[in-house]
Amino acid sequence: MTNENELDGTANESSSSVLESPEEKRKRFLLEFENPFKCDKCSERFKKKKYLREHKAEVHAY
Ligand SMILES: [Zn+2]
Repeated sequence: MTNENELDGTANESSSSVLESPEEKRKRFLLEFENPFKCDKCSERFKKKKYLREHKAEVHAY
């Protein structure tokens, strides 16, 4: 039982991105780490909550 496995969240059998290289994964991880505010409508990510709010106001106004 390791917490690392839980944090990773990508069990081998459920991984749909087999073609993704470790480098790509790392990049995506960094992206998610640096942009913690995720739009729940289009999954775009933002560094600041303010940006997310502005994005929602502009793109998902309706
Ligand atoms: Zn959005």
